[in-house]
Amino acid sequence: MQEKVKAADKNLISGATGDWEVIIGLEVHAQVASKSKLFSGASTAFGGAPNSHVSLVDAAMPGMLPVINAECIAQAVRTGLGLKAAIHLKSVFDRKNYFYPDLPQGYQISQYKQPIVGEGEVEIDVDGEHITVGIERLHLEQDAGKSIHDQHPEYSYVDLNRSGVALMEIVSKPDLRSSKQAQAYVTKLRTILRYLGTSDGDMEKGNLRADVNVSVRKPGDKFGTRCEIKNVNSIRFIGQAIETEARRQIDIIEDGGTIDQETRLFDPGKGETRSMRSKEEAHDYRYFPDPDLLPLELTMEFVEKLKNELPELPDEKKDRFTRDFGLSDYDADVLVAERESADYFEAVAKGRDGKAAANWVINELFGRLNKEGLGIEQSPVSAAQLGAIVDLISSDTISGKIGKDLFEIVWTEGGDPAEIVEKRGMKQVTDTGAIEKAVDEIIAANPDKVEQAKAKPTMIGWFVGQVMKASGGKANPKAVNDILKAKLGI
Ligand code: ADP
Ligand code: MG
Repeated sequence: MQEKVKAADKNLISGATGDWEVIIGLEVHAQVASKSKLFSGASTAFGGAPNSHVSLVDAAMPGMLPVINAECIAQAVRTGLGLKAAIHLKSVFDRKNYFYPDLPQGYQISQYKQPIVGEGEVEIDVDGEHITVGIERLHLEQDAGKSIHDQHPEYSYVDLNRSGVALMEIVSKPDLRSSKQAQAYVTKLRTILRYLGTSDGDMEKGNLRADVNVSVRKPGDKFGTRCEIKNVNSIRFIGQAIETEARRQIDIIEDGGTIDQETRLFDPGKGETRSMRSKEEAHDYRYFPDPDLLPLELTMEFVEKLKNELPELPDEKKDRFTRDFGLSDYDADVLVAERESADYFEAVAKGRDGKAAANWVINELFGRLNKEGLGIEQSPVSAAQLGAIVDLISSDTISGKIGKDLFEIVWTEGGDPAEIVEKRGMKQVTDTGAIEKAVDEIIAANPDKVEQAKAKPTMIGWFVGQVMKASGGKANPKAVNDILKAKLGI
């Protein structure tokens, strides 16, 4: 119990009038991974010339009718299943009416009262605390085009390439209590989407962005008025926007003011949020079912089929890695963060000691990849090569230290690790005769140290170092230790 109170405490923010709790709920917009748009056959490819991926539907030419893209529906259902959520066999597309130059229809086709996915959950671990974040819903909607103002200030340009691309809006419950938790949630959500292959979650391309709802309260009070910070497009900015906004609200309340429910923007340059507009209400949008689209009805068989095809998800993989390979929670988390890393690790660990494999993948390989700014799929050392290095160490053919040199050679020059060891004479010396000879020489040359070691057995470390050095790092450290102990009489 004591622990729990402490864990909650560290999320509090102190103000002039005492501690405050921050309440956060996120609306994440994730672009659906699909070849064509939600209601047209135009391409979703990123980076085309402006207005080169626009069908007559996307440009809202009169009389054009939307035709639903079945793959986008399947992707939303897969995502719902991955979020352990209720799949609604019947859902409805509505028109959300508003005017903006990048929205030629004059409305966005979205889902309002009857979304395709209902309540679900996402598990996160933050600072040793395990939190289940509730998902309120997931609905499908069209993305808008882009207005471009910065080329010539006197003109506005409109690029409709993104117009009509499918988005999933994933709405969390207000279950998050710190910027760190919010960041962990978005990171985990993105990992799940990437495992499922339903969104690439690429925040740099704007394929995943979050509206961040923030309010503050004194612990135990009811929820305060929230502000919604629109379109935050990096994990770092999500953290900064929450910190800044919570502080702003606390200062206002402590000065005797009240919070207006507003839509705000985060300015990372200035490190502040500023008001964009007062909060719109649902009725401002005049939602109504789109008469061009029938309600969407799915069969149980369709949903079951997708469920059976789901890949193993990060939480399950983590459980399996800790159970079958004896990994720590931390190591398992690091390895499952990307599906490619998890697959690589498994290929190395298969039939070998899991902990040793994890150690090599996380410390040597990831360390080296990070240093070079490379992703796992660009690794010059394959899983088979790394596995061979681990084998050479576990069979005592080479020492762990020589293993690192070998890794370096394979990284820069490639080749078969066993052959390299053979050719370059890197094999560990287990021949006790050779080691004994080296030990005798060092003992003979250092009588003073021998005396010291007899009084202080930890001095043996110095002797081990000397013998290893004399052998070029190739002596078997265990044999060196044993022989030294015998000769020094320790
Ligand atoms: P809207 O369409 O008005 O943005 P939604 O239901 O789509 O409403 O989203 C509301 C979001 O705000 C959810 O993520 C929810 O968790 C969050 N939220 C609701 N109440 C609060 C609150 N008091 N403080 C912070 N976040 C909140
Ligand atoms: Mg909203």
